[in-house]
Amino acid sequence: MKVELQNLTKIFPSRNKKSGEEVVAVNDFTFTIPDGKLVGLLGPSGCGKSTTLYMISGLQKPSSGKIFFGEEDVTDLSPENRGVGLVFQNYALYPHLTVKQNILFPLQNLRGADKLAKEEMQERALEAARLVQIDELMDRKPSELSGGQQQRVAIARALVKMPRVLLLDEPLSNLDARLRLQTREEIRRIQKETGITTVFVTHDQEEAMSISDMIVVMKLGILQQIGKPQEIYDDPTNLFVAKFLGTPPINVFKGTVKDGQLYLGDAAVLDVNGVEDQDVTVGIRPEGFIPDANGKLVCKLNNVEVMGRDVSVVAEHPASLNPVVRSIINADYAIDNSAETVSYTLKPHKVFLFNSETEERIRYEVK
Ligand code: ADP
Ligand code: MG
Repeated sequence: MKVELQNLTKIFPSRNKKSGEEVVAVNDFTFTIPDGKLVGLLGPSGCGKSTTLYMISGLQKPSSGKIFFGEEDVTDLSPENRGVGLVFQNYALYPHLTVKQNILFPLQNLRGADKLAKEEMQERALEAARLVQIDELMDRKPSELSGGQQQRVAIARALVKMPRVLLLDEPLSNLDARLRLQTREEIRRIQKETGITTVFVTHDQEEAMSISDMIVVMKLGILQQIGKPQEIYDDPTNLFVAKFLGTPPINVFKGTVKDGQLYLGDAAVLDVNGVEDQDVTVGIRPEGFIPDANGKLVCKLNNVEVMGRDVSVVAEHPASLNPVVRSIINADYAIDNSAETVSYTLKPHKVFLFNSETEERIRYEVK
C-alpha cells in the first residue's frame, strides 16, 4: 500500500498559555512512501517524527494537509478504520494476559463484518507468532519474557490484523545493544516476508541507514532530504544532513575558496572548479583522507587507533571546527604513531562544501 503525504502540517497550541508560542511540529511535509518499502523517519529528538507517525496512524489529526493510502483519502478516517499496525518504544503489552491473549486481543475487538471465527483468530495469532518467532512462548506472561521477546509480541500484535501499513516508533530504544542489532534484522526480515509498507521512526542514523529502503531526514519539523541511505550519505543536501549521517561523524572545517582552490588555513588542499571565491564550511568524511608524505593537508598527529582492517587516525588542524580530525585509513598504510604530523591528500567525492551562512551545499566539479 502506497502512502502519500500532501502538505501535511501539525501545529500544537502553546503548552504555556501565557507565552502563546505555538509549535509547528511538522511543517508542510509532502512525500510518497512507495508500496512495500520500509521508510526510516530520521532526526534528532523533537523534530516531529512521532507526530508524523501519529498522523499517518490517525491518532493525531493534521492541522492541514492530506494523507492517502493508495488512492484513498484517509485524512478523516479513525485509526481503527485505517488498517494500521502500531508498535511503540515501550512494548505496552497487557501484563495480566498471556502472549497468546495479547496477540489475540486486537482480533477479539473486531466487530460487524470484520468479526472472525474463533479458529481463524487462533490460526492468525499463531501465524503472527511464528513470523516473529515467539510461537514457543504463547502461554507465558509478559513479565516472563526478555525485552526483545516482549517487543516481538508487540510486533505480532500489530501484524495480526494484517495491517495495510506498519508503523514503528523507536521500537528498539529500550533494548540493549546486542538485542537491538538482532531485533532490527528481524524487523527487516519480517517486513520483507510480509511486504507490508512500513514506517520506522528512529533518532539513530546507523539504525535508519541499515534497515531502510529510503530515509527521510528531518530537523525541527522541516524535511531536509529524502533518498536511499547511500545516496544521502554520498550526496548530502546541507551541513545538518552531512553531520547527522555517518560514524565516525564527518570532519568539519572552516575554509576559503580562491581561484578554484579550496584552502584550509594557508594550504590549497583541493581543486574545486566552478566555485566562486568565498568563505565556506567544509565537510570531509573520515574515509576521505589518503596518507601522503607530499599531501597538502598537514595535521598534528595525536594518536593512531588500531581497529583491525582499518586504523583510525586522530589528529588536529587549526581550521578544524571539531577538537580533532578523525580519519579512517586502510591498515595497509603504515602510519608512524610517533611522528609529529600526518599529511593527507583528499578524495574529492568525500569532500563537501557548504555556504558558511545558509549551510546549504555548494557543488563543484569532481574530476
Ligand atoms: P520526535 O518524535 O521527533 O522526538 P515529536 O513529534 O514528539 O518529536 O515532537 C515534535 C515537536 O512537537 C516537539 O517540539 C514537541 O515538544 C511538540 N509536541 C509533540 N506533541 C505535543 C503536544 N501534544 N502538545 C504540544 N506540543 C507537542
Ligand atoms: Mg518521538
